[in-house]
Amino acid sequence: MKNEQMKAVLDKIKQYNKIVIFRHTRPDGDATGSTMGLRDILRATYPEKDVRIINCDYGDYVAFLGKEDEAQPDEFFSDALGIVIDTATLERVSNPQHALCRELIKIDHHIPIQPYGDVMWVEEHRSSACEMIAAFYEAFSDELVLTPKAATEIYTGMVTDSGRFRFRSVSGDTMRLAGMLLDTGIDTDTLYANLYMKDFNEFKFQSYVYKKMKITENGVAYIFVDRAMQRKFNLTKEQASAAVSHLDSIKGSLIWIAFIENDKEIRVRLRSRFVTVNKIAEKYSGGGHDCACGATVYSKKEMQRLISDADAHLAQYKASNEGWL
Ligand code: AMP
Repeated sequence: MKNEQMKAVLDKIKQYNKIVIFRHTRPDGDATGSTMGLRDILRATYPEKDVRIINCDYGDYVAFLGKEDEAQPDEFFSDALGIVIDTATLERVSNPQHALCRELIKIDHHIPIQPYGDVMWVEEHRSSACEMIAAFYEAFSDELVLTPKAATEIYTGMVTDSGRFRFRSVSGDTMRLAGMLLDTGIDTDTLYANLYMKDFNEFKFQSYVYKKMKITENGVAYIFVDRAMQRKFNLTKEQASAAVSHLDSIKGSLIWIAFIENDKEIRVRLRSRFVTVNKIAEKYSGGGHDCACGATVYSKKEMQRLISDADAHLAQYKASNEGWL
């Protein structure tokens, strides 16, 4: 189904010969899949246009999808249309050169903390930005070209951002669009192998997380992955950050948090079921979705404050709601 914003996005794309696609820093499967998927749809549809993805950082997690494009000098961007996908605020865009583009489009599914761009297409209810790119293709399938490679990229982000089609944000539409992508011939065996296989040291780290995790009085599970732990298991930042997913299935622990120690700050990854946590993240320079957020704290004291806030929030939720697990 088309909507006005989708039409505005396609109209802008048609007006430009050069298009640069951006995403947020520390890219996850959705940020990578949605940008690569859109790039490859546009390249297949408009071979005469110069369509690139140019960012300043890199993510290992879905590196199997292939490479982004090379850095370019500032002049390159002045006649380009910029498209930022999966990024709620301009501050989180990986490449500051997005500001040099002639016009900017925002395509996102996060809670909209900051409006930006000349055209905005934001649908918070979507399970992923990739789902939006799939919907975009479907809306204009009579004129856009979807290659199996683009379908795989988009499907990968849909799978990862929806917790393997598990979260509440997954709708009938999500599954219909996923079905449309699968019909192009995605190799799901290879895809899931790429997503699930871990190095030996990552499994050792996982068992260490279970040994070291803590839980508050009202059920907030958390782990502090300090630098010593990261060294002990020879972890990349991405591998260390994966600790949050190891805490996701503890009965009665509706909020779980991983704190990843960096040189100057502590990265916070907040997750929940039933109860929302975005307000807690926003209090600590973060944001995201109702039940999956990121934030930053600058000391262990501040980390303890965040844990106490989460504990009080969960206590209140449990006291006034039933049916949670
Ligand atoms: P993460 O734990 O970093 O995977 O983040 C979970 C979700 O929150 C992702 O969709 C991120 O894009 C989003 N997010 C993370 N950090 C921030 C932030 N500082 N501000 C706004 N959204 C964020």
